Amino acid sequence: MQTLRMVLVEDDSGDAGLIRYALKYSGTDSALSWVTSLGALGEYLEQGEAPDIVLLDLNLPDSTGMATVEGCKALVGDTPIVVLTGHDDMEFSLQTLEAGAQDYLVKSKLEADSLLRSVRYAISRARLEQRLRLSEERMAAAIEGASLGLWDWLLPERQFVSLNEQWLAMLGFSADEITLPQPVDAWLERMHPDDRARFDAALTAHLEQRMPNVQCEVRMCHRQGHWVWVMVSGHVASRTPDGSPQRLVGVQQDISERRAMAERLEALAMTDTLTGLPNRRHFMQVMDYQYGRVKRHLELLVCVLMLDIDHFKCVNDTYGHAAGDAVLQAFAKAIGMQLRETDIAGRLGGEEFAVVLPDTDAAGGCHVAEKLRQAVEAMRVTLEDGTVVQITTSLGLTLMHAGDTRPDGALARADSALYRAKREGRNRVIACPQVPEERPMLPTGDA
Ligand code: GH3
Ligand code: MG
Ligand code: MG
Repeated sequence: MQTLRMVLVEDDSGDAGLIRYALKYSGTDSALSWVTSLGALGEYLEQGEAPDIVLLDLNLPDSTGMATVEGCKALVGDTPIVVLTGHDDMEFSLQTLEAGAQDYLVKSKLEADSLLRSVRYAISRARLEQRLRLSEERMAAAIEGASLGLWDWLLPERQFVSLNEQWLAMLGFSADEITLPQPVDAWLERMHPDDRARFDAALTAHLEQRMPNVQCEVRMCHRQGHWVWVMVSGHVASRTPDGSPQRLVGVQQDISERRAMAERLEALAMTDTLTGLPNRRHFMQVMDYQYGRVKRHLELLVCVLMLDIDHFKCVNDTYGHAAGDAVLQAFAKAIGMQLRETDIAGRLGGEEFAVVLPDTDAAGGCHVAEKLRQAVEAMRVTLEDGTVVQITTSLGLTLMHAGDTRPDGALARADSALYRAKREGRNRVIACPQVPEERPMLPTGDA
């Protein structure tokens, strides 16, 4: 074992002698330095390495009582302190521990064994305290750095017994105005009604030990009335002897930005960049949703149109690809202007477009299709060099059926009607003949 380097701070030479005597007979390898005041301790520390332990008398020429412990602590930092008290007062001795000492000894009961035990104990306690402090500092820095909200929930009482500043700030509150404990239900009322069932299910699954933790993304109502997306993660921290969960502890993180970014990316992934219309993927989701409605409510009528620009290759070949793009943009805009808010147009690819008309029968669909055809025919696209381009479009029309293959059965039917419109001369609307209530429009002339 290494030599224990001790400093004794004691102004009474008699008491100092006792300590020296006790140490001598403790059989331990120690080196004792002796100073007689806090000031002298300060000078001693400036001169060399920190000792392993400080033995501290409280009544010194330059300090007395509890102030001596505090003053010594300020000088020695993490070095353990054993207080030497003259009187056997438990309450007072405990106060010295609160003030920063690791142990205390009553001088009148001082023996070699108890001195050594106390020194060893103080050193190990100081190490543990230091480890605990480091771990707390690390945790606090991580929580601060990640802006994590912390919560501690007593389950049977349904009360939060701890909520940190970040948790409160996330919802627009401050620690000064919230007194703990807080009823959990008052805060759960701030959860978005659409998210509550999901949260409750995640919580139950964890409490019933079907899931290793609670983890859920939910919206919480900010004090100012807007919704904040948060990720709540938690874990049962303690259970009663019969195994029922008692405390749930966890973190909460503001994920509004991440959600907004994800929504922006999702919108981008769903949109055709040239025309701004829903792309094929998005349009198929629309079809699928409408198909679901038709399947559930057989009486619902949903019309599907397919449009393909006539001789579009000529536009590209004659005026160039950029002109073709400009025409596609104008086309998308022109058809958009003819549609209702509930109608959805999409670009399936190239110069192929489709429109879903919810709650529209074949006659209504034919009417809309004809309006679209006329609008495109009437459209004039002026190119940068002043050239005016004129196009026409062919349209195929059908109604969605519950028996269609999902989600594009109706689209295939509309496409075959479109194919007929092309074959029969273009610039016309053809309704799918399989549907009794659907009537083909009269041809209106070729492009
Ligand atoms: P039809 O009347 O039979 O439909 O003849 P079409 O020329 O319109 O048909 P086709 O399918 O032969 O040609 C489609 C053309 O559309 C060919 C392709 O280069 C062009 N195209 C597809 N996507 C784009 C695009 O994003 N921009 C431009 N400028 N042209 C495109
Ligand atoms: Mg075409
Ligand atoms: Mg084509």
